[in-house]
Amino acid sequence: MPLPVIAEQRAKGWPDLHPEDFCHRCGHRNLSWYVDSALWVEAWAQAEPGIQSVLCPQCFAELWEKATGLRITWELRLDTAVLLSRLRRALAECSR
Ligand SMILES: [Zn+2]
Repeated sequence: MPLPVIAEQRAKGWPDLHPEDFCHRCGHRNLSWYVDSALWVEAWAQAEPGIQSVLCPQCFAELWEKATGLRITWELRLDTAVLLSRLRRALAECSR
């Protein structure tokens, strides 16, 4: 999602985006990510009233650290679709 589109959508009240495309706490771009539900519940307990349950990783980390007093570090993983695409490309190159 290009940043100008995010700014335009934010100004309009997000009419043309999927609800999970942006963080409902900070309003920034959200990406595909997941976390264990027990950790989510701990963080969510710290969320400000009125926020819908879509958080970006940064907001999740802030809330979880506030809830637990512990710090988070991130591990980057490629999306399965990206891995499959790269594998197919490598196999195609090997078969030439
Ligand atoms: Zn956020």
